[in-house]
Amino acid sequence: MSQKPDTKSIRKGITIQSNKAQVGLESTSYPSRSLHFLHVLNKGALRGTREDAPQAKLRLKIIIAGAGLGGLSTAIALRRRGHSVTVFEKAAELGEVGAGIQVPPNSSRLLLKWGLEPFFKDKVVEPGTIGFRRWQNGKLIGLTRLVPDFRKTFDAPYYVVHRAHFQHAMYRLALELGVEIHVNSGVAKYDPEIPSLTLENGATYSADLIIAADGLRSEARKVVLQGKDQPPQRTGFAAYRAVVDVEKMRADPDVAWLLEKPGLNCWIGDMRHVMTYTIAAGKSFNMVLSHPEESHPSTWRRETAVPDMKQHFHGWDHRLTKIIGMIESTLKWPLLSGKPLERWIASSGKLLIIGDAAHAMVPYMSEGAAMAVEDGAALAEILNKISSKDQIYEALQVFEDVRILRTGQMQEASLINGKLWHFADGPEQEARDEAMRPEVEGRHYIESPNQWSDPVTQAWAYGYDAEKEVAEAWNAHVSRGSKL
Ligand SMILES: Cc1cc2nc3c(=O)[nH]c(=O)nc-3n(C[C@H](O)[C@H](O)[C@H](O)COP(=O)(O)OP(=O)(O)OC[C@H]3O[C@@H](n4cnc5c(N)ncnc54)[C@H](O)[C@@H]3O)c2cc1C
Repeated sequence: MSQKPDTKSIRKGITIQSNKAQVGLESTSYPSRSLHFLHVLNKGALRGTREDAPQAKLRLKIIIAGAGLGGLSTAIALRRRGHSVTVFEKAAELGEVGAGIQVPPNSSRLLLKWGLEPFFKDKVVEPGTIGFRRWQNGKLIGLTRLVPDFRKTFDAPYYVVHRAHFQHAMYRLALELGVEIHVNSGVAKYDPEIPSLTLENGATYSADLIIAADGLRSEARKVVLQGKDQPPQRTGFAAYRAVVDVEKMRADPDVAWLLEKPGLNCWIGDMRHVMTYTIAAGKSFNMVLSHPEESHPSTWRRETAVPDMKQHFHGWDHRLTKIIGMIESTLKWPLLSGKPLERWIASSGKLLIIGDAAHAMVPYMSEGAAMAVEDGAALAEILNKISSKDQIYEALQVFEDVRILRTGQMQEASLINGKLWHFADGPEQEARDEAMRPEVEGRHYIESPNQWSDPVTQAWAYGYDAEKEVAEAWNAHVSRGSKL
C-alpha cells in the first residue's frame, strides 16, 4: 500500500540535492502499484515456505484467551518472534461452527509466511474466479479472475477451506512452534492491572500482556471499555449456512457444471444473496444464504429452518433452488456488525482485545477472520520494535490506531457489499449490472461495483501489508517524538 496522501509525506519523499529533485522508489505518497514489481523482486516471490522471523529484542510472557481463528493466528504470529505464549480456550475441544471460510490474499500471504501451507495444503481449494449471478436466472453479471490474477498481483493465493480444517491446521502449527494450548479452560475474570486472568476452575495466571480473542460476546471487551460495552448489533439480516453432498450435485446435469472448475459463485437479488464454493479439496459444496431477518434468534426453530430457507429463495434461478433443495440440514446465524470502538486496550496498557471481540463485521467481504490474522501479524511486528516493558503500552497504542482504522474500513466495506448486492430490480440494479459488464466481457475497466474487481478497492483490501503498515506507523510515531 502507498502512504496516506499528505503534504508531509510528499515533502519527505521528494528531496533536492545539488539542485536536482530526487525521489525514492520505496513507496509513493499517492495510491499506486507501479512500484510493486520492485517489491516482489527484492523480497523474492512467495513460495509458501516458512520464513525466518526477526526475533523480538524483548521476549514477553503472553496469555491469549480464546483459541478461535483469531486467538490461534495471534499465538502463531507472536510465538515465531520468540515470545512465550499460552492460550486458554473455554470449549472442551476445538470446533469451528459453520462450514467454509474464504482466506483472501491479505491473510494467506501471512499464513504462508508463517509456515501454514504444509498443514492445510491437501484441504484448501483455490477457486479460479468469483462470479456474481443474477438472482432470477443465474446469468453472469460480475466476474473477478482470481487465478492467476490475484496470485500475481498480490503475491498470495485466494483460498477457500473448511473451517475445522483451517483451525486444526493453525492448532498443529501453533503446537509445533511451542505454543501451550489449554482447552476446557474458560476465563472467568480479568485483572488488567497485573495483568492476570482467573479461570472458571479458580486458577490464576499472570503475564506481561493478556490478549483476549474471545469472540463476539467478549467479556474482556467490557473490561477494556470499563463497563460501557459496545457489543456488535443485529443488522436485520441472518444467514443460513449449509453444505451439499457433491455426489448428489454431480448426478444432476443442471447443477454439475458448478463442480467442473473450482469457483466462487454468488447469486444476488432483492435483499438476499447466496454465496457458494467447494471446500474440503472439492468434496463438499458450501453455501451461505443471506436474507432479511428482524426476529430475535431466541425465537428461531431448528425444525423449520430448511423449509423457511427454501421459501426465502422461492422463484430464484431454478438451478440454485435445485441445489437448495438438496440441503438436508442448516444452521441459521444472525449477522452482526460492530462499529469502530474507542479503544482496544485497557487503561492499564496490559490487556488488549482483537478479532471479533474488537471488530465484528458482516461476512460480505469475507474478511472477518482475515482481519484477526492481520491483527496477529501487526501485533507481533509492533512488539518487535520495543526493548523495554515500559514501552508495551506505547507500542499497543500505535497498533490500536492502525488496526481500528483498517478494521473499521473493512466493517464499512462489508456493509457496502450488503447494499450493492441487495438492490431490487430497477434503475440501481441495472446501472450496477451495466457497470460490471466490462469485467464479464473481458473488456478493460478502471472501476467496478464488484469490490473484488474494483482496482482501487482490490489493492486496499488484498494488497494490504499489515506488518508494513504498523511498522511505518511506528517509525512515524518515533520521528514525531524525536522532533518534540
Ligand atoms: C456466515 C459467516 C461467514 C463468514 N465467512 C468468512 C470468510 O469467508 N472469511 C473470513 O475471513 N471471515 C469470515 N467470517 C468471519 C469469521 O468467522 C470471524 O471473524 C472469525 O471466526 C472470528 O474469530 P475470533 O477468533 O475473533 O472469534 P471466535 O471464532 O468467536 O473465537 C472465540 C473463541 O474464544 C473462546 N472463548 C469465548 N469466551 C471465552 C472465555 N471466557 N475463555 C476462554 N475462551 C473463550 C470461544 O470458545 C472461541 O473458541 C464469517 C462469519 C460468518 C458469520
